[in-house]
This record gives sequence, C-alpha cells and structure tokens, in this order.
Amino acid sequence: MQKKYTSLEQVQSAISSGKLSLVELVNHYLENIKKRNDELNVFLEVFEDEALETAAAYDKSIAEGRKPGRLFGMIFGIKDVICLKGHKVSASSKMLENFESIFTATAVERLIAEGAIVLGRLNCDEFAMGSTSEHSFFGPTRNAADPTKVPGGSSGGSAVAVQADMCLAALGSDTGGSVRQPASFCGVFGFKPTYGTISRHGLIAYASSFDQIGVLSNSVEDAALMVEVMAGKDDFDSTLSQRPVPAFSQEIHPEKKFKIAYIKEAMETPGLDPEIRTSIEELIEKLKGDGHEVVEVNFPYLDYVVPAYYVMTCAEASSNLSRYDGIHFGYRNDAAKNLKETYQLTRTHGFGKEVRRRIMLGNFVLSSGFSDAYFSKAQKVRRLVSDATQEILKDHDFILSPTTPTTAFGIGELTNQDPTTMYLADIYTVQPNLAGIPSVSVPLFQHSNSMPFGLQLMANKFEESKLFSFSKYLMKG
Ligand code: GLN
Repeated sequence: MQKKYTSLEQVQSAISSGKLSLVELVNHYLENIKKRNDELNVFLEVFEDEALETAAAYDKSIAEGRKPGRLFGMIFGIKDVICLKGHKVSASSKMLENFESIFTATAVERLIAEGAIVLGRLNCDEFAMGSTSEHSFFGPTRNAADPTKVPGGSSGGSAVAVQADMCLAALGSDTGGSVRQPASFCGVFGFKPTYGTISRHGLIAYASSFDQIGVLSNSVEDAALMVEVMAGKDDFDSTLSQRPVPAFSQEIHPEKKFKIAYIKEAMETPGLDPEIRTSIEELIEKLKGDGHEVVEVNFPYLDYVVPAYYVMTCAEASSNLSRYDGIHFGYRNDAAKNLKETYQLTRTHGFGKEVRRRIMLGNFVLSSGFSDAYFSKAQKVRRLVSDATQEILKDHDFILSPTTPTTAFGIGELTNQDPTTMYLADIYTVQPNLAGIPSVSVPLFQHSNSMPFGLQLMANKFEESKLFSFSKYLMKG
C-alpha cells in the first residue's frame, strides 16, 4: 500500500517546513486505524485523546521554536506486553485482561522523553508465545496484504500496524523471532538487538534469558535512532551491558563491503519454499557481483536449535508465569472454594491452550529425574550453538538466511495441527536468541503468491551498526 510517510526524516522535514502538524499526523494514523482495525484486529486500544493532546502541545512548542526532542514526529505503537503507566497491559491474555500498569517500561519512557508519542497497544500472541498472532485472547490479527493470512507472531499487531500505515513504527519483543518473523510476513524492517542492549524493565517476561525489545519500522534509520534512544544501562535490569551506546543513527554506511556467510544446512532445509531458496541464491550472486565476499559454511547444529529453544523457553516461562496465581494480580476464578482451587481454576481458565501447554512442558523438563535429560542438555546445546555461531562470525561480518522457510500461513492453517509444525517454522530465527546476538529481517522479496518475505542477517554481539549499514544498502536495491 502507498504510505504517506516512510521515515521519521520525511515527517520531521514536513513538520519543520510547516507543511504538516503533529495533530494532522496523529489524525492521519487515527483515520487508517478507523478504516481497517475492525477487520485486521491490530490495536487492542488506541490512546486517541492523549495522543492528540500531546501532539497539540508539541505543535505549540514547535511553533515557539522548541523541538520536543530527537524523536518528535515518531508516532508509535507498543506490543501489549510492554507497560505504560496508567494504561492496561494484558499480554493478550484473559489472565491480565483488566490489569493496569503502575509504571512505564524504561524503553518507552526514553522514547517519550525524546518527543515520541504512543498511539496505542497492539495485539499479539498470548504472553508472546506463538508464530501467528492467533493465540490472542482477543482474536487473531490479520495480515494487511491478505487478510486470510496470518501476520506472523508473536508481535503480529506491531508488524501490521506499520504495514497498514497505522503508525510510523512499533515496539515488539523478540524471544525467538517474534519481531523478525512478523516483519518478514508483513514486508517491514524488523530489528532485534544483542541480548542486554535494551532494558527489559516493564516488559512482561516470557523467557528472561532470551527476551529483548525490538523495533518494527519502515526505514533502517528509524530503527537505529529508536534503539540508540532506548539502549543503555538501567538500574532496573541487571542483565544490561554497561558499554556506552554507540550513535547507531550516525553510523550507517551503506557503501561498506562485507564478508558474509550462509549456512549450507539452512539452504537445504526440507521445508524451505523453493522460490524463497532461489531468491536467496540470486541475491547471493548479486552481492558477489557488487564486491561482497559470500561463502558457504557448515553449521551441524541446525536440527537442534528448535528443540533446545523450546525446552529452555518453556522452562523459563513455567517459572516466570507462576506469578499469575489468582492472588497477586490479574484474573481470579470466582468458583474456587479454597486456595488450591483458586490456583487450579484461575490458571486453567485464565491461560489459553498454548500457554498452558508450554507451562506444562516447562514444568516437565525441569522436574526431578528429567531435568538432566532435557533442561541441562538443552543448556549444553545452547552453548554449542552459541560457540559455533561465534566461530563463524569471527571470520564473517554476517550470517545470511531467509527469515522464514515459507511466506505467511493461512489463518487456522497451523493451529489445528501438531504444535511442532508451528515450532519448526522458527528454524532460522531462534539461533540469534540462543546465541544472544543481534539480528534483522530486511523486507526485500515478494513471492509469486503475492506475499512478502524477508532476508535475515545475524551479526556478532554489539555489531548492530554493521547490520544497519548493510540493511540500508540492501533496501536501496
Ligand atoms: N515463535 C516463537 C515462540 O513461539 C518466538 C516467540 C517470541 O519471540 N516471543 O516461542
């Protein structure tokens, strides 16, 4: 679809030259939401009055010669797992349907402090578990390119909000691909930083040693600037890197030549759509022609990444989600007659099927007698995957692959099947989360079935600048 603005730079220059006001910009997005939100189920809530009020106040200060910050004009949405004080945050779950945040996530607070405006909260898979955005208590989000298709998940609402021009950018969370996979299915740019880059304070936890907040945007520069603003130490998240945050938005050099690896086993995955494979092969040839070095490497652990990821994330999820007990906060089942029933009935009725499945799986792999066979083994696999990935990245700037083996599935196509079918769709995206490295999905391709799909790149820890530079070069065509 034709979008009015595809970068913050366009927005800011229209505002600075007096052609556009912030109120007009917010209204533009509100109109698009009104047109298609019923059909696509993207925004669970729109903060219309608040956004318009802030926009009017900023218009006034701009007219007086004061810019509200580096992000003025950034109208963005937040995935419904990210807290904003005084607003609901439900993780798209019945469990937290009416829960209200009592503080704002550090990442959001920093964006707001630079003049960005939050437009609303976005639908996703319940507790960020899923690859289709169908596992939401509030019903599935639909892909704007074809509403009979899923947008991917779990940050499906965030991807469609950008795809359908309902906001300029959106925040998602990425535990095993939840920013990059929907970005690929919806034809937008998706970025996940190095683990420990962006504070998780105010992000509802799924699997804490994997979770990172990421960005979905139209332009590489917008993602770079937002990450630059959000990143950096925060007393509320002890896992954050203490390194100074680079000025990512000033370090985008599309002219650079790189050394790139692609994994032989990834290109030979049985479920890989042949047309996707051909597009990647053609791109590899083009890159070589443009002076980049592209080589094939082996990665013998590809078949183990999905099992290791699901064992570990379910284990962490079973622990993280134990707090939803009907006592502390959120939903409580009224029929319960004693404490045990309160736990049982609340958790049985408050969580959806996929979340319950993962809690049970997580409890199983951690239970005595089984934890060595499953959890400890998965930890060892994680170490092997991480070491082997870093070994490749010692000699290469990037590892390149498709983001997803297929284009977007039909609504309902995977939900009635054995859940491992859905899990296997994460084959390319979980490796960076297991290794803690940054990764992007670049919107480069269109399939003959008319759905978009992306190219995934991984880089070594803290090499996000390289990812932004190369993504920019690729998106210029
Ligand atoms: N699809 C993956 C899962 O279901 C990724 C989810 C995520 O990154 N939040 O776990």
